Amino acid sequence: MNEESPKTEHKLLDPDEMFAALVAKITGSGHQMDLERIRAAYEMAKSAHEGQKRRDGSPYVTHCVAAADISVDMGLDEDSIVAALLHDVIEDTALTHDDIAKKFGTPVADIVEGVTKLTRVQYTSKEDEQMENLRKMLMAMAKDIRVILIKIADRTHNMRTMAYQSPEKQRTKSLETMEIYAPIAHRLGMQRAKWELEDLSLQYLDPQGYREITQYLNDRMPTLEAFMSTVEEKIQTRLAAEKIDASIFCRIKHVYSIYRKMYAQKLDMEGIFDLCAFRVIVDTIPDCYNVLGIIHDMFKPVPGRFKDYISTPKPNMYQSLHTTVIGTEGIPFEVQIRTWDMHHTAEYGIAAHWKYKMGGGSGVVREGDEEKFAWVRRLLESQQESDAQDFFHDLKIDMFADEVFVFSPKGDVINLPVGATPIDFAYSIHSDVGNHMVGAKVNGRIVTFDYVLQNGDIVEIRTSKSAPGPSRDWLTIVKSGSARTKIKQWYKKERREENIVRGREMVEEELRHNGLSLEEVSEEVVMGDTLKRLSYATEDDMFAAVGYGGVTAVRVANRLRDQLKSVNAEKKSVLDKVNAAAERRDERAKKEVKAIHGILVQGLDNCLVKFSRCCTPVPGDDIIGFITRGQGVSIHRKDCRNYAQRSHEPENEGRWIHVAWAREILDTYVTTISIYSKDRSGLVMDIAGVLNSLNAKVRTLSAREIGGMAMTVVGLEVKNLEELRGIMNRLSAIRGVAEVKRNGGSKE
Ligand code: MN
Repeated sequence: MNEESPKTEHKLLDPDEMFAALVAKITGSGHQMDLERIRAAYEMAKSAHEGQKRRDGSPYVTHCVAAADISVDMGLDEDSIVAALLHDVIEDTALTHDDIAKKFGTPVADIVEGVTKLTRVQYTSKEDEQMENLRKMLMAMAKDIRVILIKIADRTHNMRTMAYQSPEKQRTKSLETMEIYAPIAHRLGMQRAKWELEDLSLQYLDPQGYREITQYLNDRMPTLEAFMSTVEEKIQTRLAAEKIDASIFCRIKHVYSIYRKMYAQKLDMEGIFDLCAFRVIVDTIPDCYNVLGIIHDMFKPVPGRFKDYISTPKPNMYQSLHTTVIGTEGIPFEVQIRTWDMHHTAEYGIAAHWKYKMGGGSGVVREGDEEKFAWVRRLLESQQESDAQDFFHDLKIDMFADEVFVFSPKGDVINLPVGATPIDFAYSIHSDVGNHMVGAKVNGRIVTFDYVLQNGDIVEIRTSKSAPGPSRDWLTIVKSGSARTKIKQWYKKERREENIVRGREMVEEELRHNGLSLEEVSEEVVMGDTLKRLSYATEDDMFAAVGYGGVTAVRVANRLRDQLKSVNAEKKSVLDKVNAAAERRDERAKKEVKAIHGILVQGLDNCLVKFSRCCTPVPGDDIIGFITRGQGVSIHRKDCRNYAQRSHEPENEGRWIHVAWAREILDTYVTTISIYSKDRSGLVMDIAGVLNSLNAKVRTLSAREIGGMAMTVVGLEVKNLEELRGIMNRLSAIRGVAEVKRNGGSKE
């Protein structure tokens, strides 16, 4: 732009001539367009760009007319042609969106603005993933697909005239075209535009490779052309004989497709065998398959090269039959067979839809088109069928509706969910960037943290080492899960003490809603169990987790509440059981008093008790227990001679234990007494008489004579010592009785 004078000597382009040609092309296309409106756009562009020049010295507006011309070739609508003429005025002249809107309506102004935005995007070459993001971003930014198509027309013309640019610019623009615009054209099914962009780019990216291929093709051109016309004629003749109405075209494959094949398959030119491609275009799908059969009948097919894209269209809706066959001269060539509909779609892609909607001829969308263009529909937010104009206007791209693409200051494209904020951006760069973020700029202007990022924004994050770290509010602002996770992680690590306090408060608050306090649930069985169940080692860990949002206070409080409930329920049932057990024990204890003969053994419960035969104690005697080996406790009188003799034996240490009579004695006790007396007749009778008179329960009674004296031994049952003493006193009073004493005593 703004160059003083042309440095080259070529003929400068005349814009008015070019515009006249454009009008002629539109008229010839049969599309109904308001030519006056288009002329007005041309005039506006011409005066706005007045004085500006292209690198070749031509008036700048020639570029605008050329872009419009390419747009007509693509089959774009009137608004698109108007917008194409004006596509650089916002960027390069004083005119504004409003100026355009006033004269040509908002849709045109919007398209021009969209193209301007794409123009402002700066890219550097990146790895494949970045490139895909960039392509998506451009598509998403465009909103209206016509923006992309005009951008492709613009780029096509710039590439055609790239010869006038510096080598540096040639390379960068070509790379961008190869990596961004050709793939977009491909995605939109625009084969013709794609091929042109690829070949133009290759020319600058690998001039030598490009030259070698074109040189080779040129050298062989006479042969190839002769070959092609022979084959074409053969096919034509045969199809006519078969009464199939077909148009046959042949071409040399485009340079870049040969180039790519050479590199992908590591072949030299000689190895690329199918340089020619034939196209047979017919009216109906059955004819496609008929033609395929005829071709295979005429020429030998190369195995594995047949592809049926009619039954299985490519994602960009391309349809054709492909086969490679070997001609009579042994030269292989490719044949593509398709209907006219398929052909237009292949050539113009998405644009073909409008071309034929508006097209002079039938002009009507045919039955079945909707299925065919299903993928287009996916691109559209809404689709108006009635009016081509509306259809254009509403043609929006929502392919990436849930994504937003923004730039880092270095030019990296960052892909974020729609609604994402500078915080999401910062965390997507690195958690450190997010954690130390203190401010954000978008397109050079300071924005708030909740600013919603737009496609193409250049986002810059200001960080500081002394940043306080993320605010809890950020958790509600961010849109991406990864940012949220990283913020939570920070809180987990960096703010433990604060988290504990905060978490405790939150849990307390939640407990209060349940009518509980923290104290009520602090018991080990409640808190300990809850910690275990929620997998926290300590109370602090759990409160910290609540504090940073790892677990909700509601969950913890509910867990504590439920645990308290179940512990209380259990406690009550344990208490009931204890009480019941105590009652049962009392019952049993009463019975045991009887069962163990009224003996209470200190420290031992329910032990086996037996009364020693040596001293036969009765209630009232002072007694002592001896722990026998395996036979329980034997009860002795304290004045038992065995006790007197054995209580100090070391082996028995610890085995003598304190025992006592129970208060209530229900049993009777067997004991033995001896009666010493003069041996006289009638003595035993007297003894028996006394015992009988006292209702004593005699078990055994025996008498013998020892050295002139009689000894009578009586075994009897008594209730207690008192009764025994009464009996013994009465026996002592019998005539001739010298002594009555208990057996087993130590004083014998
Ligand atoms: Mn331009």
